[in-house]
Amino acid sequence: ASREQQILTSVPTDLLINGVWRPAQSGSTFAVIDPATGDELAQVADGTPADGIAALDAADAAAADWAATAPRKRGEILRRAFDLAIEHQEDLAVLMTIEMGKSLPEARGEVTYGAEFLRWFSEEAVRISGRYGRNPEGTGTAIVSHRPVGPCLLITPWNFPLAMATRKIAPALAAGCTVVLKPAELTPLTSLFLGSLLLEAGVPDGVVNIVTTTDSSGVGSALMADPRLRKVSFTGSTPVGKVLLKQAADNVLRTSMELGGNAPFLVFDDADIEAAVAGAMLAKFRNIGEACTAANRFFVHASVANEFASRLTAKVRELGVGRGTDDGVSIGPLINAAAVEKNAELVDDATSRGATIVTGGSAIDGPGTFFAPTVLTGIQPGTRLLREEIFGPVAAITTFETEDEGVRLANDTEFGLVSYAFTRDLARGHRLVDSLRSGMLGLNTGVVSNAAAPFGGVKSSGLGREGGLEGIHEYLDTTYTLIPAS
Ligand code: ADP
Repeated sequence: ASREQQILTSVPTDLLINGVWRPAQSGSTFAVIDPATGDELAQVADGTPADGIAALDAADAAAADWAATAPRKRGEILRRAFDLAIEHQEDLAVLMTIEMGKSLPEARGEVTYGAEFLRWFSEEAVRISGRYGRNPEGTGTAIVSHRPVGPCLLITPWNFPLAMATRKIAPALAAGCTVVLKPAELTPLTSLFLGSLLLEAGVPDGVVNIVTTTDSSGVGSALMADPRLRKVSFTGSTPVGKVLLKQAADNVLRTSMELGGNAPFLVFDDADIEAAVAGAMLAKFRNIGEACTAANRFFVHASVANEFASRLTAKVRELGVGRGTDDGVSIGPLINAAAVEKNAELVDDATSRGATIVTGGSAIDGPGTFFAPTVLTGIQPGTRLLREEIFGPVAAITTFETEDEGVRLANDTEFGLVSYAFTRDLARGHRLVDSLRSGMLGLNTGVVSNAAAPFGGVKSSGLGREGGLEGIHEYLDTTYTLIPAS
């Protein structure tokens, strides 16, 4: 506990505007709660729309100099930020665990993953290049190049407090953009700590600004309507993404939208069942199931469904539940009471339509917002959790008979972020690459995220890609110049 106190004391709790930490103009603060205990961890500044505009003033004022800063220098600052994040891995991990709930080992993993965006884009900063060539008519020379889009608003969710921030900040800075980060109000501490590391790494004043607030729609609307803003990058729910897309239309903003998921997890009759169960544990129970990439619907070939369900259940019963800092815990609390309520409702809906609870199935009493890791079988058509994102430790298993049926069930959703499939048939694997309608596919693996890969979805799961070679282009405009032959 004293270690936690020490870390909490080192976290800034004010707004970061133009390189300076300062309170909200209203003087108001709000509480950050430990979901494992209900205890208050800290009070942080509750920014107003005027604070948001002050942050945009700073981002706008810093934009020209940052865009003109040598790419190598931008890269070196990001590389220093990577080194600092790794140096402070334990501090960041403990902070995430206590404000979000995930287990400490998973939080350490998120630091490795989240920091990697800083390193990856430190390397990409110097590789922004264009094209030069004769036009088809032979009458001139065409030059295609890229430049930063300008000030960006970055809105992040609470489930991956570090990685969602670095996945946006790193490519923006590498591209030469300045940013205003609006972290989730449930988990602002990790972002604020990251802000202090970025300043230490040498990020100039105004290049990264952070506005914490309970008035996300007020602050968001004020920035979205300001013509100096040129881009919004959002990770969160589909309904909020739609609101932001409508606001973006009025100001003709570039957008990147990482929205909800409803990932299918297919297990074919030729799958390595042990590997499929291991993949399912990761795809479903990592991050307490609170991931947009979480397996939401398990479709298992009828001939292997019993074996898969019983082996999965055995593993689920071994999961340690508790505060994420305690030894042996892999399932921490859900983020809040509303999340517990939603999981309970979805399980009740499934059982009322004929599903069977094999293990778990309900909230756990006591302080904190815990839900027991759950396996359900016999999910019937029409069940809500086939349509809605569960965002919790609930595995729902349905059976299928043929590949066509499995694929049809998998694609029967408005979402399309990621799919998982386990098969030892190479030809089938290749067919699935084309037939599954999602932006990403884990073929015989339960985790796809990597800083070097283009993360993103199709349909209601969003627009644009983060990470990889693609990620930096979300923050770059393309320009074209024609020079007639003389
Ligand atoms: P979740 O279900 O993960 O909480 P949300 O979409 O509600 O997802 O929240 C994701 C992020 O979007 C958070 O930072 C939240 O504060 C922010 N947010 C929520 N509503 C709005 C809004 N109307 N305008 C701008 N940001 C918003």
